[in-house]
Amino acid sequence: MYTPPRVLTVAGSDSGGGAGIQADLKTMLALGTHGMSVLTAVTAQNSLGVQGAWDLPAEAVRAQFRSVVDDIGVQAVKTGMLSSPELVETVAALLAEVTAPVVVDPVGVSKHGDALLAATALDVVRTKLLPTATVATPNLDEVAQLTGVQVHEEADMRRAAAAVLEFGPRWALIKGGHLSGDAVDLLTDGEQEHWLRAPRHDNRHTHGTGCTLASAIAARLAHGDTVPEAVAAAKEYVTGAIEAGFRLGEGIGPVDHGW
Ligand code: PLP
Repeated sequence: MYTPPRVLTVAGSDSGGGAGIQADLKTMLALGTHGMSVLTAVTAQNSLGVQGAWDLPAEAVRAQFRSVVDDIGVQAVKTGMLSSPELVETVAALLAEVTAPVVVDPVGVSKHGDALLAATALDVVRTKLLPTATVATPNLDEVAQLTGVQVHEEADMRRAAAAVLEFGPRWALIKGGHLSGDAVDLLTDGEQEHWLRAPRHDNRHTHGTGCTLASAIAARLAHGDTVPEAVAAAKEYVTGAIEAGFRLGEGIGPVDHGW
């Protein structure tokens, strides 16, 4: 009997269903894997923004992780919103126990400008979480927060990647989507360099893009892809999902997983 590859998201809940674990699980299903979730925080959220957020106790995070890993096992892990220094530290310690590849999306601030990570947690992200990553996937705001490198044009992305790699992930995927022109990302391990380019879609309904990309990478890694293969496939998936993003509520709608 067939058992699909198993992928775990360690992330926050978006009640509106557009980002967070909801986006992660949809992506994992769409890419032919069994998705599992360790919830770190609950947000009250819709297309207009985040109206409230509550962290789960570290003990609850550890217990969920143990339940999944001890019985079901994981072929890849993805981390998203980790919220507080204590939760970042807890998750980093748990990740050190698994041999599966880890995709770290160092979630900082939502598109609406709502903080999803305490400023006091940045140092733990740098020193404890990023070293556990097979791939780290910061956007340009997260690069600036974590490394101080400001990216204004494509040429700056190499310097950004080098600064992220200093913290110890095997690969850095610098997401240049906030620059003008094509959506360009740079994937590098310090030796190989892969530039990924997609035409920009004129669609404002992009809520959940970062969660979706990181989950798609994890899903493909669980299928056995190499990191460059997984990132290329994930970029293709997220580009389709952005193209099909739809209106929901009065604000920014989600990317679509059924395209
Ligand atoms: N809510 C949660 C729980 C998230 O994990 C994230 C991103 O990782 C967001 C919201 C933000 O999503 P976006 O910036 O795509 O709107």
